[in-house]
Amino acid sequence: MRSHYCGDLRTEHIGQDITLSGWVHRRRDHGGVIFLDVRDREGITQVVFDPDREASFALADSVRNEYVIEIQGLVRARPAGTENPDMATGAIEVLGKELVILNKADTPPFQLDEHQQVGEDVRLRNRFIDLRRPEIQRKLRFRSKITHYIRNYLEENGFLDIETPILTRATPEGARDYLVPSRTHEGHFFALPQSPQLFKQLLMVSGFDRYYQIAKCFRDEDLRADRQPEFTQIDIETSFMDEEGIMGITEQMIRGLFLEQLNVDLGDFPRMPYSEAMQRYGSDKPDLRIPMELVDVADLVAEVDFKVFAAPATDPKGRVAALKVPGGAELTRKQIDDYTKFVSIYGAKGLAWIKVNALETGAEGLQSPIVKFLGETVALQIMERLGAQNGDLVFFGADKAKIVNEALGALRIKVGEDLKMHQCEWAPLWVVDFPMFEEDGNGGLTALHHPFTSPSCTPDELIAAPEGKLSRAYDMVLNGTELGGGSVRIHDQTMQRAVFKVLGISDEEAEEKFGFLLNALRYGAPPHGGLAFGLDRLVMLMTGSASIREVIAFPKTQSAACLLTDAPGEVSAAQLRELNIKLRKTP
Ligand code: ASP
Repeated sequence: MRSHYCGDLRTEHIGQDITLSGWVHRRRDHGGVIFLDVRDREGITQVVFDPDREASFALADSVRNEYVIEIQGLVRARPAGTENPDMATGAIEVLGKELVILNKADTPPFQLDEHQQVGEDVRLRNRFIDLRRPEIQRKLRFRSKITHYIRNYLEENGFLDIETPILTRATPEGARDYLVPSRTHEGHFFALPQSPQLFKQLLMVSGFDRYYQIAKCFRDEDLRADRQPEFTQIDIETSFMDEEGIMGITEQMIRGLFLEQLNVDLGDFPRMPYSEAMQRYGSDKPDLRIPMELVDVADLVAEVDFKVFAAPATDPKGRVAALKVPGGAELTRKQIDDYTKFVSIYGAKGLAWIKVNALETGAEGLQSPIVKFLGETVALQIMERLGAQNGDLVFFGADKAKIVNEALGALRIKVGEDLKMHQCEWAPLWVVDFPMFEEDGNGGLTALHHPFTSPSCTPDELIAAPEGKLSRAYDMVLNGTELGGGSVRIHDQTMQRAVFKVLGISDEEAEEKFGFLLNALRYGAPPHGGLAFGLDRLVMLMTGSASIREVIAFPKTQSAACLLTDAPGEVSAAQLRELNIKLRKTP
């Protein structure tokens, strides 16, 4: 059929007879001449039909947008003055000789050029049309390049691509499982994997030494922000490598990828302990492109007669921190109110602020609703600690440390974006030395990564004082997004049992849930570790997309539904009976 892709034609093809197959992108009738913009996955070419070829002219006149056609014609230079420098094929056009309509198309629910005028739901419901848009085609093609590069890199470094089951048991990554009822085992359920974690560890016990998989993972989460219930990980595990080795080989992979695909040299990734990241940025995935930092001022306000600050300043779990926005004094009252609303999402009860108008006049020169409560001396001490200058604005967070970190951490990103404070395009780093556990909100502890992460102490030390113990986990962060994370794992039964003990997982429960892993640890488990990268997020960042939905061919909505196939759907009574499932009537 085709001799060339539409988008590939250039001046070097002038004079050639060619055949194109594709879709009618646009049809224009210009004073008796018909122009068809014909589109395929490589791009668009302009085809011209003159009336002197009556049959094909009449056909060209009859086609409509999105008809599928085949054209034979002659490549020629566009007449002088009609070249289009914005189009890759803009220097040539095709003089159409023969035209065949391979298939007609109903008027599409939206024109590709006008996709912005319809809601995302319309586009998702008609995703096969949305996917025709050159922008999405470019992104999915880029995604394919990325996976190709990664497979190559890993294969060259001795990693083996091994598939792990989709129908499996629960894997604890901290989200809810998607369950699949078993027909053959009445009352029993499979869980879809939240990650291949346990299987990749088993592969290490089996001696495969280096494993990878581009793996689908499933997490039934309340879909905050930009998450998908099913997503793709670049999943990696190695034996006989410590964290240095694992971070080294994967950092090299990501650097190579950026260099090859974007011509960007990310340089050596700095490392930052988790505690420092929280202290300075209020986040375990700091966006280092933004120069602002959180500064603690609890010691300065502990004694003031202002409960809002003094109470958290003296609470061991509290934090009082300031965020200096250079040049922020120009923000209007309305903007500050909007930021106050913004931080309330994170549980902040308000957003105190001080505008630095004229520091040389002392506290007089500070404009703020709170200076009178803080007292002039304290207010000036704070300004000094922050190195504040005229024209700056200082925001405050005072609450439980968790709320202050989340609120000021998010505010830092938002203000940084609004005021265009980014100092570079890419800022990667490794966050290391994570705590092993965090509070679960019910007086117990839960694993910060997952319970197979190795602590950096002995089992006895861990049991004696689990809080504050660090793990051998690491996250790769880029521009404030967690690209990937992993850890050196526990390869020793005693340690694994110690961790379960701290987590309040009884021997019976551990046996019931992960007996197969504990069992494997008894039979010669090598030291091992790995990590997983979120492929969707990586592609999103590299293509500059606003959402991961833009880089997934068939994404789900925020409420975890597929509008295209109308899934999840109801099932027949017969199917339910076969599965021995009876639905409870919703009241
Ligand atoms: N299984 C982990 C996750 O999905 C990654 C890892 O530890 O390798 O987040």
